[in-house]
Amino acid sequence: MENKVYKSVVIGTGPAGYTAAIYLARANMNPLVIEGPQPGGQLTTTTEVENFPGFPEGIQGPELMDNMRKQAERFGTEFKTGWVNSVDVSSRPFKLQVEGVGEIVTETLIVATGASAKYLNIPGEQENLGKGVSACATCDGFFFRGKKIIVVGGGDSAMEEANFLTRFASELTLVHRRDELRASKIMQDRAKNNEKIKWGLNRTPIEVISTGMGVTGLKVKNNETGEEEVLETDGLFVAIGHKPNTDFLKGHIDLDEQGYVIVKPGSTETSVPGVFAAGDVHDTKYRQAITAAGSGCQAALDCEKFLEGHITQDWSQSLNK
Ligand code: NAP
Repeated sequence: MENKVYKSVVIGTGPAGYTAAIYLARANMNPLVIEGPQPGGQLTTTTEVENFPGFPEGIQGPELMDNMRKQAERFGTEFKTGWVNSVDVSSRPFKLQVEGVGEIVTETLIVATGASAKYLNIPGEQENLGKGVSACATCDGFFFRGKKIIVVGGGDSAMEEANFLTRFASELTLVHRRDELRASKIMQDRAKNNEKIKWGLNRTPIEVISTGMGVTGLKVKNNETGEEEVLETDGLFVAIGHKPNTDFLKGHIDLDEQGYVIVKPGSTETSVPGVFAAGDVHDTKYRQAITAAGSGCQAALDCEKFLEGHITQDWSQSLNK
């Protein structure tokens, strides 16, 4: 068990977490970043990132995240690796139980644990991530210019992604497991009025077909007839929702019914003073690397401001290692 009390701990190492750490470290807050077993977040599963400003030729997702990590390290950010199993934010300083590390004590906490795209978990899907299978139309749509695309899902995300992807696709089919869509009426109407979208309703995806060099089709089961068929495609966009990584926060800070952290409008403050949330863990709308980074910056500034008025520690002692 450590006896050190941190001024600020950041959980999560996507663009939100790293950006928060860069700002905190440059403000002499000596932050600790707790990274999970797969540091870097969702961007490490994409290939080329072409819409992050400052990289006119694009940059590989893992390289971008590595750069952010180095930038945070350069200003004195400390890193520890482990799952945060539980948090006690009932009084300050807060206590975190981190697997393989032990107890971490901190005055403030920035939660930047992100959200994970849900996948179909069918054969061929994970093997072809970044090679024809994607869960992010904004990130990868551009690579499918003039190609056949299938979007899977029946919610607002699927409608939105399908509409967006018709800008690039030569042909787009929306595949959904039922004949009724879950999406809101306005989003359904928008998709139904888009002549480029064909509908593959009542079809359950069962396998992604690929040559090893790229995706060529999606095998589906027709739920009316029970028959299997292969729908030809060059790309598969899975749009069946996201799950925020907040299980360890249940009962400790306010979450919405889907598990996203609730923040006060226009800020990164959560229901617990001194706990802030940044990035996809509270963002159900934009979900971009650049918006997550911006939100990490906001959380760091909110955190600094909070600490100015709430210092409970003798920092000269607690920060001595
Ligand atoms: P969602 O509403 O939960 O919809 C997920 C869809 O994926 C459902 O149609 C579901 O089918 C399907 N699905 C789930 N698991 C599947 C599986 N294993 N195999 C095949 N299909 C599967 O998720 P979402 O569309 O991401 O929306 C999440 C929230 O964000 C919603 O509140 C939504 O309104 C909001 N949102 C809003 C906007 C907007 O307003 N612009 C845009 C995007 C999202 P079933 O219907 O059969 O369950």
